Amino acid sequence: MGMSTNKCGARWTSWLTKNMLLLMTMAGIVMGVIIGGVLRNLEPSQEIVKYVGFPGELFMNMLKAMVLPLIAASIVSGLSQLDGKTSGRLGSRAVMYYVITTTHAVILGIIVVSIIHPGDPTIKQKMGIEEGATANESAAQKFLDLFRNAFPENIMRATFSQYQTHYVNVTNSNGIQKTELKTGYVDGMNVLGIIVFCIVMGLVISKIGEEAKPLANLFHALDVVITRMVMIIMWLGPIGIPSLIAQKMLEVSDLWQTARVLGLFVFTVILGLGIQAFITLPLIYVIGTRHNPYKFLSGLGQAIMTALGTSSSAASLPVTFRCLNKLGIDPRVTKFVLPVGAMVNMDGTALYEATASIFIAQMNGLDLSAGQIITVSITATLASIGAASIPSAGLVTMLIVLTALGLPANDISLILAVDWVLDRLRTSVNVIGDALGCGFVHHICADHLNADVAEAEKAHAFVEAHGVNFDELEKEIEQENNNHKTIQHV
Ligand code: ASP
Repeated sequence: MGMSTNKCGARWTSWLTKNMLLLMTMAGIVMGVIIGGVLRNLEPSQEIVKYVGFPGELFMNMLKAMVLPLIAASIVSGLSQLDGKTSGRLGSRAVMYYVITTTHAVILGIIVVSIIHPGDPTIKQKMGIEEGATANESAAQKFLDLFRNAFPENIMRATFSQYQTHYVNVTNSNGIQKTELKTGYVDGMNVLGIIVFCIVMGLVISKIGEEAKPLANLFHALDVVITRMVMIIMWLGPIGIPSLIAQKMLEVSDLWQTARVLGLFVFTVILGLGIQAFITLPLIYVIGTRHNPYKFLSGLGQAIMTALGTSSSAASLPVTFRCLNKLGIDPRVTKFVLPVGAMVNMDGTALYEATASIFIAQMNGLDLSAGQIITVSITATLASIGAASIPSAGLVTMLIVLTALGLPANDISLILAVDWVLDRLRTSVNVIGDALGCGFVHHICADHLNADVAEAEKAHAFVEAHGVNFDELEKEIEQENNNHKTIQHV
């Protein structure tokens, strides 16, 4: 009896120790909401609000600072450990997963918003939104921007700015106003360009082999160091995340009035996101892998909390890496598939783009035809791929969908009031989608990955057994090259 109580106590203590950070973060979030709620009633000054958000600001900065070295180190070190065939296999399986899940998210968004129909024209009057000009974004140019950013002309510049094409209103010398297509750089890391550059670099390192080994080792060492730094930063989450949430609660005005008017819309989005995160994605995972998706999901707690706190899948990336490591996902899969997923695979955003734009159409009294529904599906997918992994990015790319439907850009300000909370939720779904994607690819490519390891081990054993000396081998190659040059010279 005593023994079993002891055992039970020990198990309980070990569970507590293992989940300490998660529990502290959860408790922190509850505290953040309480502090935010209480302080709201005291109507604090802007200065106080800034103090409340200060720890969160630092936490967010630290996470953001990890993103560039983490992406570069993980992609290069991950791909340099794989042969071309295996990386191709991982890549194609990941793309298959992204296409299936994003398409489903968009269709699901369209279905829930059409059935619930949360939008009616009176909402615009209640919120005091004036009629404005139709949104003006070129979907085709935005699509081309993806490619322009994928192949940056200067990789250093890509670390802090990205290419953007958009329309601006200009007045010519005769005082006539017209819109012009403008291209140029805007602030913000060009993650896509960095990812493409690092993928190519990793593949080339793996192809070159021995000669490029020092570079592979350098990136591997960087990866190990950054991972350790992330572990330290994660312990600041229980303070940083509640601070961010409390600050946001203090910044939003008309919380209850907005909640009443836009309640049904918020419910529609939450329902769609819930179905995507807890039914569709797990179902796809279980069909592809025959493993329990909910067990997997329970290991993502810390990443989900970070997404809820930061509203950014890029800032959550370091923590998601850590969770997947703990879940036993092959690091070669995570290092390659996770950063790419965080950039292009956004199920929550895709669902939101479709739902919110149809909601805006409903408020403008527009009944969408079948053709327009197809347009929404295509542009919402495009807008989610184009959205950066930062707070409220989806709101900006939604202009593409609104332009395609001929709706006013002004109407985005309608959902602005609830975007701070919906952004957190859709970011969490984005993170869940990316993480499950890694699990999916890990399981369906397991045989290949094991074969890869077996082959490397065989080669290693051969070298051990036959005592191949690389210094000797290098000398031999050099000698042969010299001979070759002499012959050519002669
Ligand atoms: N905040 C989201 C993310 O980082 C993007 C969005 O605004 O939908 O994943």
